[in-house]
Amino acid sequence: MKKIFFLGECMVELRAVDNTTLNQAFAGDVYNSAVYLKRCFNEINSVIVTALGKDVLSEKMRHCFAAEQLGTQLVFAHPEKVPGMYYIETDEHGERSFTYWRSDSAARKVVDFFNPAVIDELASGDMLFFSGISLAVIEPRARDIFWQTVRDLKAAGVTVVFDPNYRARLWQSVEETKQQYELAFKSADISLPGVEDLQVLYGVNSVDDVLAHMSQFDINEIVVKNGPESVLTLVDGQLQSHQITPVENVVDTTSAGDAFNGVYLGARLSGACVSDAVSKAAKAAAIVIQQPGAITAKDIFNRAMVD
Ligand code: ADP
Repeated sequence: MKKIFFLGECMVELRAVDNTTLNQAFAGDVYNSAVYLKRCFNEINSVIVTALGKDVLSEKMRHCFAAEQLGTQLVFAHPEKVPGMYYIETDEHGERSFTYWRSDSAARKVVDFFNPAVIDELASGDMLFFSGISLAVIEPRARDIFWQTVRDLKAAGVTVVFDPNYRARLWQSVEETKQQYELAFKSADISLPGVEDLQVLYGVNSVDDVLAHMSQFDINEIVVKNGPESVLTLVDGQLQSHQITPVENVVDTTSAGDAFNGVYLGARLSGACVSDAVSKAAKAAAIVIQQPGAITAKDIFNRAMVD
């Protein structure tokens, strides 16, 4: 059974239903990807690597992971911390605004739980996925241990996957981000950047610019996403452009890239060629943006995937 580890943070998501009612769910980039991968590729072991607390919401989150059939052997329980949380509101023009409570979340401590048994388990996987958000969440004092672990896993044959997913407010400075991203690009075997993510950091404005920027690193598989525009892939030196059919009634683009990533990696782990993987990933992303929230209801998603 193929196995992929998604390392990062899952949060409590709050969304206004009306003036006095909030809808509560769980979401976070790596979690979203893990869920959509598992829904499309049940035969792959999709495992989440994070730290939660010992509170009621952490308990509910663990149940939610299990209900989505994710592996939870590396979901650690911090004795004092609680999960991060965000509130999302969409205005009448579809613009989203987020309010976060995540600066002291349990997930920031995930690397503290690494030990030889944890590293052995991670080394038993086919892939390790982390994002720019994962890097921002890991505490600076734990970075050396994190990067040493990535090097060890790579040496053990694990494929390292990185999505830059840039969130300016999670970083102290652009220089700090660039320094961490450089280490990530240097370790990655697969990278799935979005044009927007790299715009602010490196002044790149197109998929071609992104590819040119990334060509300085030794990344075997690059998949550049650009919203409704074509996806560009450079795999084993072969450049391909993949047409995307724009969705007309976009409801909420949260997690489009996450769904794309999860399904793309699931397809590749299952042996699909790049163009089949992109087309399945794009189909999943298109379904997700026609529904509110990061995680589309399972029945709606599964039905739409087989149509
Ligand atoms: P992110 O969520 O990381 O910003 P993008 O906005 O680039 O990612 O979108 C990721 C993928 O979602 C795209 O490559 C595409 O497949 C799909 N997607 C995004 N927006 C649209 C859209 N308006 N119509 C159809 N597909 C879309």
